[in-house]
Amino acid sequence: MSSQQPRSSIDTVPYQPPDAPSDDFQVMAGFTNAVPLPDGSYEKPTANGANGHTRQPSRTPTGLGAEPLSIVILGASFAGLACAHHFLDHTITHLHKTPTAPRYRLVIVSPSTHMYWNIGAPRALVASDLIKHDDAFIPIEPAFHRHRGHQSTLIQGSCTALSTETRTVTLELIGHQAQKRCSQLTKRASQAPDTSTPGTPDAKFQTLPYHALILATGSAAHSDLLSLHGPHYNTVGALNAFHARVSAAQRLVVCGGGPSGIETAGQLAAYLNYTGRWPLRKRVKRPKQIVLFTGSARCLPGLKGEAGRKAEAQLRGLGVEVRHHVRVVEVREGFNLTGRTDVVLSDGTSVVADLYLGCTGVEPNSQFVPARLRDAKGYVRSHSGTMRVDLAGERVFAVGDVAAYSRNCVGDVYGAVPVVMQNLLKDLLGYEVRLASPYGEGREAMEGLEDRVYVQRRVDSVLCPITRFGGVGLWKDRVIPKPFVYLLKGHDYRVCKTNLVAVNGMSPYRRT
Ligand SMILES: Cc1cc2nc3c(=O)[nH]c(=O)nc-3n(C[C@H](O)[C@H](O)[C@H](O)COP(=O)(O)OP(=O)(O)OC[C@H]3O[C@@H](n4cnc5c(N)ncnc54)[C@H](O)[C@@H]3O)c2cc1C
Repeated sequence: MSSQQPRSSIDTVPYQPPDAPSDDFQVMAGFTNAVPLPDGSYEKPTANGANGHTRQPSRTPTGLGAEPLSIVILGASFAGLACAHHFLDHTITHLHKTPTAPRYRLVIVSPSTHMYWNIGAPRALVASDLIKHDDAFIPIEPAFHRHRGHQSTLIQGSCTALSTETRTVTLELIGHQAQKRCSQLTKRASQAPDTSTPGTPDAKFQTLPYHALILATGSAAHSDLLSLHGPHYNTVGALNAFHARVSAAQRLVVCGGGPSGIETAGQLAAYLNYTGRWPLRKRVKRPKQIVLFTGSARCLPGLKGEAGRKAEAQLRGLGVEVRHHVRVVEVREGFNLTGRTDVVLSDGTSVVADLYLGCTGVEPNSQFVPARLRDAKGYVRSHSGTMRVDLAGERVFAVGDVAAYSRNCVGDVYGAVPVVMQNLLKDLLGYEVRLASPYGEGREAMEGLEDRVYVQRRVDSVLCPITRFGGVGLWKDRVIPKPFVYLLKGHDYRVCKTNLVAVNGMSPYRRT
């Protein structure tokens, strides 16, 4: 080939400077993060040894020495654990497709070191021997022992702020170990607070940069008994306190006509007011009065009418007083020195309860998410097909109860996890390719990688154990016979599946 190539038409195209690479890109491609001086020039690099023979350490490691990029998962329950195991089992093995590909580490953040099996909460709250704490609270860290070869860290703490501009999360860390783990992650990126100098920020709050972020912070029930509120020992304490008071309580008031309220009222009546097993079942001599306020026209208003009617018949059969069209408007705990609760009702009356249980729904754990990323009810506005939080920048996803698409059931978690993980893989590979060839070549490596789209199942499947051996259930929109409710859920509230969820990241309703 001649070296005298004809001058190409490129000369005639006006010069377009390429887009400034992102911070991540600069680190990985070997640039420094030097800040220009006011006149636009850069400070001359200090030669090693020129400054009194003191070696100037580079603040930004580059190339192979660069820090791994953090894939941060906030939340470690059904959604967070499923994503974490999927990442370490599958995603990581499909990355590193280019010579300049970064290394990755998985960072899981959760205020609780244990997952709470809240599926079983309606029975666990009745008495300590029905579902033992060891079954209801599953330690998270041992569930990751099988991934020992990979870089992953569990940090105990809550996310208190998310900055989509700096691509960082601020964490409130619980305990010394969490502070140490987080400092180790952030020290090379100079984000860790310097606690050696007085007056510097507390090590309890640290800021962690993320390369990709999965929001899986779920939701919190109003009652301390029904979901985690911070570390798991808060819930353990609430359950113990409830168990201690339940035997002396005479009137128990449950509020909420949805599945949690129905199940809770049923489980309390079935285990506190009856002894023995069918057909030798006997009502106790001094049964407790259990009152359920549904707040609507019938039980289970969100489901087919037949399911609600059956649930009500079973509750009444157990002696539960079911009252419709009445809402609880105020709950005055400890309103007098007896420690009882005054429950003020929408019909102008009030009822004094020895124990009150609010099963009135859940709120998303999204207080740390910027308001523009949340809908009117506080749920994270993610794309209902791709699960990306488009307004939060690249590689940010939301899955599970915290995301707006979810109807707050585990079915909506496990249907969406493969979509999140496929689209995350695509985005991470896209970044690797851009890093290796910033001017657009090498795109063929991305061929065949399409966005996966989530399609929500429109049919209802709900199981509500009410009596010891029965309950009501809808399976794919059909009301199923009572024994199936017992077999599918009621016999042990699926605690036999905790390992499947915590260690393998799979659905507790998966057929194995
Ligand atoms: C009493 C009850 C019974 C239920 N029974 C059923 C059932 O039988 N079948 C069914 O399909 N569904 C049931 N559900 C719903 C089901 O529990 C939820 O859909 C499921 O828990 C959602 O999982 P998730 O991982 O999205 O969120 P969650 O389980 O709510 O987990 C959220 C995680 O995020 C963590 N977290 C919270 N805030 C922060 C923060 N700021 N920073 C970092 N981490 C944070 C929490 O510690 C936790 O690890 C029930 C719910 C309740 C309350």
